[in-house]
Amino acid sequence: MPELSAAAGGPDVLLPPGSAAQREALEAARRLLGPQRVRLAGAEQDPGRLLGPNASLFRSRRVAAVLRPSGAEQVPALVELFSRSTESGGLHVISTGRNWGLGSREPAQDDVVVLDLGDLDRVRELDVDAGWAVVEPGVTQGHLSRLLAHTPRMANVTVSAAATSILGNALDRGVALRGQRTEDLVGLEVVLPGGESVTVGWWPSGERTAPVYPHGLGPSTLPLFVQSNLAVVTAAAIRLPARPEALRVVRLSFPPAALAEATDAVRRLVAQGLTRGVPRIFDAAAGRAYGGAEDEYLVHLPVDGTAESVEALTKILTAEAHRARVFTAISDSDATDTATPHHEVARLVERGYAGDPDLADTVFRTKMGVGADQVDSEAGFAFFLPLIPFSGKAVARASRLLDDVVAATGVRLSATLHLLSGDLIDCVVAMKFPRHGEAAARAHRALDLLHGSFAEAGFPPYRLDIDHADRRDATACDPGALALTRRLKAVLDPNGALAPGRYR
Ligand SMILES: Cc1cc2nc3c(=O)[nH]c(=O)nc-3n(C[C@H](O)[C@H](O)[C@H](O)COP(=O)(O)OP(=O)(O)OC[C@H]3O[C@@H](n4cnc5c(N)ncnc54)[C@H](O)[C@@H]3O)c2cc1C
Repeated sequence: MPELSAAAGGPDVLLPPGSAAQREALEAARRLLGPQRVRLAGAEQDPGRLLGPNASLFRSRRVAAVLRPSGAEQVPALVELFSRSTESGGLHVISTGRNWGLGSREPAQDDVVVLDLGDLDRVRELDVDAGWAVVEPGVTQGHLSRLLAHTPRMANVTVSAAATSILGNALDRGVALRGQRTEDLVGLEVVLPGGESVTVGWWPSGERTAPVYPHGLGPSTLPLFVQSNLAVVTAAAIRLPARPEALRVVRLSFPPAALAEATDAVRRLVAQGLTRGVPRIFDAAAGRAYGGAEDEYLVHLPVDGTAESVEALTKILTAEAHRARVFTAISDSDATDTATPHHEVARLVERGYAGDPDLADTVFRTKMGVGADQVDSEAGFAFFLPLIPFSGKAVARASRLLDDVVAATGVRLSATLHLLSGDLIDCVVAMKFPRHGEAAARAHRALDLLHGSFAEAGFPPYRLDIDHADRRDATACDPGALALTRRLKAVLDPNGALAPGRYR
């Protein structure tokens, strides 16, 4: 656990020049948590001093303090302190704060207090027979997967670093290799503005554990707390998928000119259930980290089940791929054949689909050029995350839109398509840029253009960075739905205890 240094001096000198209500709440928080768990901006209010740099070089927001409680039981009292007045500035919550490309630890707005839940890192309960765990915000995918090693269950892991939060990622609707993490959430322990703690959805209770079923009876409230500023989440009950007995990833390649045709061919394989989890298509830039051929797209099609079913499905998939006559390379043995040059990365990919994140962050380092702890200080990196329909036509259109932005700004983009179903693609557009002002300005300009042109094409984002919070309004299907969530906010959080975030 990183030690938090207490600023020297008495509270009168130290407290940031916020409102009287904020200073009062911070003084009470210092008494509650102890001074070593409250870092204050100090009178000079240097933006960026408390949170440090962020990988995307988004403007550092003015943050009055960072509170780092040691246990979930301290959170209700903290939330209550910031619920007393509209002048308290609001809390911005992070789990491990590694939301790289979308703002990292930064809040969307100035003058808030960051509530860092990284030290709430207990796996409270684990049932590998029934397939669930109760995890706190600081539980990382590396931590959970190590606990599940050699059990019949696995963690649904992302390709981000091993030290990222399961809960933080799920609350932002992150996408892991077995599916979108939101689908794993079956229950949440939430602290409402005012400080009341409630569990919503399914939750284990003593001896009487009902089957895992998140919806309950009547209206379901769990989804209200995802991409939301209605509560602080202090724990989640999550599903643990069954560990497959066997798993293989079939690799295909195709040239850029065949993008539409190859996408339609892959769609058929996905729609017919020949591949499971989240198959992925990488453009040449994204595929480089996975040993993809120069100037070719790379496809990963995971197959799992019993050894016999994997054998049979692999044969069917490769035969179908040959028949499609659009793929230039078709392979099902890269992870096992030590003679192939990308054997090691192919093995790591298969381990990931089987629930074991790359604990050494090997692929992550290849992509970022630095380790997880250096990303925010040494990398230049941003994400744009639109949804597109799964069709060759739509994917070709998206590719042209990316080309337009490259031509207009000179930034380098890479695209990975996460095939979420036979109808839906999460298109991950990543931008790496040198870490200086001019390059960052170009990347930010590219982000603005991407938001505009993809929205125009009917491809809205499903996650937002801190500079594009206004896009929620711009892409909403019905303004009435936005008004409804704002009415709920006004009822549940009349004093704005929880800071408006990227999804305000
Ligand atoms: C090379 C690379 C690969 C990546 N791969 C992936 C990938 O495969 N899939 C993917 O989804 N992302 C990926 N990312 C992006 C990012 O690193 C992950 O999404 C990461 O898990 C998010 O950071 P975190 O887990 O620390 O969450 P946090 O930063 O702690 O939380 C994310 C957001 O959720 C909200 N939140 C967090 N905790 C709480 C809480 N307790 N109560 C209420 N609200 C809360 C806040 O709005 C917060 O900003 C990748 C990034 C890089 C650089």
